Amino acid sequence: MPISTPDTIDLIIKARWIIPVVPENRLLEHCALAIHQGKIIAIVPNDEAERRFTTHETITLDNHVLIPGLINTHGHAAMSLLRGYADDHPLHTWLNDHIWPTENRWVSEEFVRDGTMLAMAEMIKTGTTCFADMYFHPEQAAQACLDAKMRSQISFPIFDFATAGGIDSDDYFSKGLVLHDNLRGNPLVHIAFGPHAPYTVSDEPLRKIAVLAQEMDMPVQIHLHETAFEIEESLKQYGKRPIQRLMDLGLLSPLTQCVHMTQISDNDIATLQQTGAHVIHCPESNLKLASGFCPVNKLLQAGINVAIGTDGAASNNDLDLFSELKTAALLAKAVANDATALSAHAALRMATLNGAKALGLDEKTGSLETGKAADITAIDLSNLSMQPLYNPASQLIYTHSGQCVSHVWVAGKALLSAGQLQTLDEREILGKANWWRKQIATH
Ligand SMILES: [Zn+2]
Repeated sequence: MPISTPDTIDLIIKARWIIPVVPENRLLEHCALAIHQGKIIAIVPNDEAERRFTTHETITLDNHVLIPGLINTHGHAAMSLLRGYADDHPLHTWLNDHIWPTENRWVSEEFVRDGTMLAMAEMIKTGTTCFADMYFHPEQAAQACLDAKMRSQISFPIFDFATAGGIDSDDYFSKGLVLHDNLRGNPLVHIAFGPHAPYTVSDEPLRKIAVLAQEMDMPVQIHLHETAFEIEESLKQYGKRPIQRLMDLGLLSPLTQCVHMTQISDNDIATLQQTGAHVIHCPESNLKLASGFCPVNKLLQAGINVAIGTDGAASNNDLDLFSELKTAALLAKAVANDATALSAHAALRMATLNGAKALGLDEKTGSLETGKAADITAIDLSNLSMQPLYNPASQLIYTHSGQCVSHVWVAGKALLSAGQLQTLDEREILGKANWWRKQIATH
């Protein structure tokens, strides 16, 4: 039976407003999403939904706006256990003197599992349905996503040197490729290459990733042009900017996700245009580590796909993508010296459809369209801080919407219902976070 004409469908969600993201800048009123077997099968006016469909369940959200579930395209979920642990340092001091020694001491399979659960709980409660992760023990993060029924891209880390996740680059490759094989075809969890950065991975493994990524059609996520220092060091060591080096190694393509890009020349923009690589903007992490400013407006005008990420909670310090979007929109205006830069609708697109494109998932998710997965976030707009309500899209970006998320679905399955987590145990997660704090703070 075709999914467009079942006798009884799984779910109808009737809402006061819907921002589908495709078509652009559209606000639907008094419309419903009809959902069956995890997919959106129709978007119709509420009364038509009642006439047309018999359904197992109907949810009516009179004060709410439905949007595509948010996509957090860069983070290190388990680092939520280091939230607030080492603040107010520049990137290289923060990594070398604080984060890496602490990770070497503490990171284990349990650390990654518990930290990822904490991160997912926070992300789901603030409207995120899909996230891209890059951290040690990626098999633990992948299993946590499967258990929580959250969509994700899990990239396995690759460094030249030993870390909590492996002994050398061969070790990282073999573990990561086994994980990829184990999860091949999984509808929720997708595996990607995660070379940490051009300054921690040498030419040979980068060249190997470039070949394997094309052969296996696997995405690559890499921190790139995060600070001016990174560019200076690359010029000294290789005689070229990091992005040029990656291009020469064959690593840039539409499969590549370049995280940060705070240092961008006109040549760099041409390289991004030419290769189709994506930019992942992490404004709060860049501000907190004083790394620099990504020229989002200029990139978008050049036709480059820009998505958004929170980075890890240790450098943010929250995973609320709505608050990230507010920062992104304000910062884009300041950097472009143009108040029209990154409008509310454009910001929302960055956290939905652009994110899906960057992860290669835009056929599946990123907008509320017939045939796409029912990855949906509902926000209650009756809150005092949202009144009076002239423009739902503006309220979503410029007020504290993350606190007003009420429901979240991934592939039609409820992960948050009336503010309550459905697939994760919040009490248990809080207990474990407190246990880790005691261990790390007192040893
Ligand atoms: Zn990062």
